[in-house]
This record gives sequence, C-alpha cells and structure tokens, in this order.
Amino acid sequence: MNTWTKEELETAKADGYLMAEVFKLRTENEQQKKELSRICNWIWNDDPDMESWNTDCGETFCLIEGGTQENHYLYCPKCGGHLIDSRELEKKK
Ligand SMILES: [Zn+2]
Repeated sequence: MNTWTKEELETAKADGYLMAEVFKLRTENEQQKKELSRICNWIWNDDPDMESWNTDCGETFCLIEGGTQENHYLYCPKCGGHLIDSRELEKKK
C-alpha cells in the first residue's frame, strides 16, 4: 500500500524540513571552514618610523605599539583570513 496516513505525511514533511536544515548547516559549516582556513600574509615593511605591513588582501596596516603578536592579532581585520606575519616568522628562524 502506497497511501500515507496523515501522520506519516507530517513526519515526512518534518524529516524533509530537517534534512534541508541539516544540509543548510552543513553548507554553512563548510563555508566557515573555508573562511577559517584562508590565510592572509602580512608582509612587514621594514620601516623604523612606522610599524606597518602590506597584506595579501591589498591593505597596509600600521600598529602604533608592538607587533601583531603583542596586539593579539590572529585574523586580518579586513578579509578575516588567518594572519601570518612575516616578521614573526623571521623572529622564529
Ligand atoms: Zn587580509
């Protein structure tokens, strides 16, 4: 028998709705993962007067005091990419 009771139909509708929600969440998660894994390289401008960096996303950022690590910059404020500071990398070498 292929006739569905009213309850079965309601459940199927709810399931379908849930599946759509799960799918939506999954897609959003994947987008978030992609966003999180994006990297923005900050290239240190070796200028003693102004601490500044040129970024992958085409900005120049200056920090008045300290570097990206001292200021707890983990992500680029412009593109939201994971910040990689060339100067910090140099320090670690
Ligand atoms: Zn950026």
